[in-house]
Amino acid sequence: MDKIRIKDLEVYCNHGVYKEENVLGQKFLVSATLYTDTRMAGITDNLNKSIDYGKICHSITEFLKENTYQLIETAAEQLAKYLLLSVKNLDKLTLEIKKPWAPIGLPVNTVSVEITRQWHTAYIALGSNLGDKEEYLNHAIESLDQQEDCEVVKSSDLIVTEPYGMVEQDEFLNGCLELRTLLYPMELLKLLHKLEKEAQRQRTIHWGPRTLDLDIIFYDDLILNTEKLTIPHSDMHNRDFVLKPLAQIAGGKRHPVSGKTVQEMLQELV
Ligand code: ATP
Ligand code: CA
Ligand code: CA
Repeated sequence: MDKIRIKDLEVYCNHGVYKEENVLGQKFLVSATLYTDTRMAGITDNLNKSIDYGKICHSITEFLKENTYQLIETAAEQLAKYLLLSVKNLDKLTLEIKKPWAPIGLPVNTVSVEITRQWHTAYIALGSNLGDKEEYLNHAIESLDQQEDCEVVKSSDLIVTEPYGMVEQDEFLNGCLELRTLLYPMELLKLLHKLEKEAQRQRTIHWGPRTLDLDIIFYDDLILNTEKLTIPHSDMHNRDFVLKPLAQIAGGKRHPVSGKTVQEMLQELV
């Protein structure tokens, strides 16, 4: 990915743990690396195809003057989010905020915090087999899209499938969606659980009837195995109710462990 770099933009503002810092203010230095594809701008010589670094410098300055935080960690986190949400074509950025006059009572050149934040792509499987299934699924898709740090990029058709595991229950309606998100995996899981809860889902029998089930299938090419979260979803390759809708929107996406595409996993099932 191409990069546009801003180095040591001086901003006079009021972040700090001490009252004096908040009142008097001090100089901060902000550096940013903006990851974006500059190919079209390079070919057409048209600023609209790139990111206007002049505008970005003004946005950074305004943001850091208008909002005051105790920690430069928070200033960096919130500024990164603000830029990723507001700047078109910005996929990822590294931000460093230096505090040359940090009041620590010792001779130090600068202290700084540097973070990298980016948009991620997650695939979510949706299922319902209780109540107004279509309404539960459509509502979940809408709710996800309405989160400020999430965007539903694609969604599959909703398909009717036979129950899995415990078979003596109503048939399911299933679908998959592609989500662009700034959330970290555990934050995304928490959001999914909140939406399930809002759909009055009761966690009683495993694989039992439910109004709404939202599972993370993929998150970029992340491989994660913790007590609370396994990514890719550990049983996805065995489930046609996941692979069928997923193939509609991401047939060529490869499983980061097996290397197989969604389409290949689906073909192996039937
Ligand atoms: P299955 O996970 O086999 O589809 P389920 O969806 O019915 O079963 P739940 O009761 O919804 O199971 O979830 C149980 C727990 O699974 C969740 O609380 C969550 O912590 C954990 N979990 C692990 N990996 C994932 C994942 N990729 N997506 C969603 N939940 C996950
Ligand atoms: Ca599930
Ligand atoms: Ca689940």
